[in-house]
Amino acid sequence: MSLALSGIGVSRGVAIGKAHIILRGSLEVLESAIPAELIEDEIARFLRAVDAARQQLEDLRGRIPQTTRADIAAFIDTHLLMLDDATLVTTPVDLIRELGCNAEWALKLQRDAVVDVFEQMDDAYLRTRRDDVDHVINRVQRILMDDGGDADQDVAIPLEGAIVLAHDLTPAETVMLEHQGISAFATECGGPLSHTAILARSMQIPAMVGTHGLQRYIRDGETVILDGLRGVLIAGADERTLDYYRQRQELEYQRQLELARLSDTPAITRDGLSISLMANIELPEDIDAVSRESANGVGLYRTEFLFMNRGTPPNEDEQYDCYVSVIEALKGKPLTIRTLDMGADKQVDGGNRVCSNPALGLRAVRLCLKDHSLFKPQLRAILRASAHGPVRLMVPMLSNTQELHQVLSLINDTRSALQRESLTFSPDIKIGAMIEVPAAALSASDFASHMDFLSIGTNDLIQYTLAIDRVDDEVNYLYDPLHPAVLRLIKMTIDAGTAAGIPVSMCGEMAGDPRYTRLLLGMGLREFSMHHTALQEVKRVINSSTVTSLVPLVQELLDNTTPGRIPGRVDSLNHSTR
Ligand code: PEP
Ligand code: MG
Repeated sequence: MSLALSGIGVSRGVAIGKAHIILRGSLEVLESAIPAELIEDEIARFLRAVDAARQQLEDLRGRIPQTTRADIAAFIDTHLLMLDDATLVTTPVDLIRELGCNAEWALKLQRDAVVDVFEQMDDAYLRTRRDDVDHVINRVQRILMDDGGDADQDVAIPLEGAIVLAHDLTPAETVMLEHQGISAFATECGGPLSHTAILARSMQIPAMVGTHGLQRYIRDGETVILDGLRGVLIAGADERTLDYYRQRQELEYQRQLELARLSDTPAITRDGLSISLMANIELPEDIDAVSRESANGVGLYRTEFLFMNRGTPPNEDEQYDCYVSVIEALKGKPLTIRTLDMGADKQVDGGNRVCSNPALGLRAVRLCLKDHSLFKPQLRAILRASAHGPVRLMVPMLSNTQELHQVLSLINDTRSALQRESLTFSPDIKIGAMIEVPAAALSASDFASHMDFLSIGTNDLIQYTLAIDRVDDEVNYLYDPLHPAVLRLIKMTIDAGTAAGIPVSMCGEMAGDPRYTRLLLGMGLREFSMHHTALQEVKRVINSSTVTSLVPLVQELLDNTTPGRIPGRVDSLNHSTR
């Protein structure tokens, strides 16, 4: 009898193979009192465990094949950096001294405190970085508890073609498993924005997360099918089901070949309209992949990643060096640097402010305008970097034009200061606004009249328009890019930009979803920015579309937004041969 488990598909593709279960139960940490005379020994034991964890990661780093891409190996470096972070090392030592407790307990207390900070963050991506904290702390914890001290022992055996099923996988383990030739993986934990999920997409291994019951229902060694697009894991499949999935595998293979061939082709519609396809990046290392996919530039550089995993923000020179390295790697293609989009985060605002609703609180430009010591070094670094190539400066989360004027006036002050100091910058740097708050979309023409470009952040625009937290599982079902209200706001923004004669881009997830490409083309969007893995797929849709036919069809769709009928009509657009 066949059995299907569902989860969240995070990396598309179909794999058929033998299940390899990695058993690693959760750790139960107990508190115990340490007598005063043994406290220093306990601290030494803790520091030895941290060293051993560092050694494990360094060994792993050394075992990664030379051919592994730098952006993939960088995930292990992130964990190594965390082990040098005072928050994870010094504070537990202080706690052992203050509370007279065992190292495991001190580490657990610190883990809970750090995770709390992450949970307060309004940015979905940053919130999921708590997985990294957990992975690093668990590694130290297992060494302390002598529970599988070599946390990577599972990865020493050949696993050609296996489908790995695990409670959770660290990015480091994922890298090694890929090297051992696994064909797919499913985990019980994790979300679509976790590093492990991002890695899977980057390495193009079919994967799913949030698959409950893996260890209860699946036997080690039995044949399973994993569908990373739909998030389904099937065991005990009959011949007919196996045949169906073999065909899907073949289609997927053909699709990959076809997409790979597209990377050197420009994005031009059938009626000759050239469309700009840009990439979103988080780390300078992402640039390699962006160049391989021949993107037209970077439409969103999320600079908050520079500010993560450290006690103090990067200074102006560090930021400048980093931006210049990306500009140089882009070889003349534009780089859109988004100013810091951080939420109510203790590390950055310097206080212990607890924000009851971080998504509506002091985040992004609000935080920057409140704390110039955070904002000014970044503005200086971006302006100075603009002397090295085409840079666009983009401001997130603007909700009114007063904020915009404050930003523009700070930029002017920064220009004057740089001039006085004889530091060079480009006079042509383009300044743009992200439209991701409904109020900004409704007054997009006011923004457009002061800006060089607009960029629609649909991830937040949808969250704020529909009043649903984009990372809350309970309300995820309401997250609807095709809601008429969302479509109207997008259209208003595109129209406002077009009327003002400035480019309008879209850099939220919607831009990288090929189901919406024709709709957006028909609405007038000419610049899309997305994760690099989506570029060729979206390009394929663009190259098969005729904008002059789409415009009236989309206008008609927007004029008659009968509830429930929009998805069907968008489907027809996608199937139309015109
Ligand atoms: C968005 O909100 O659509 C966006 C691109 O920004 P982020 O996902 O970083 O909030
Ligand atoms: Mg946003």
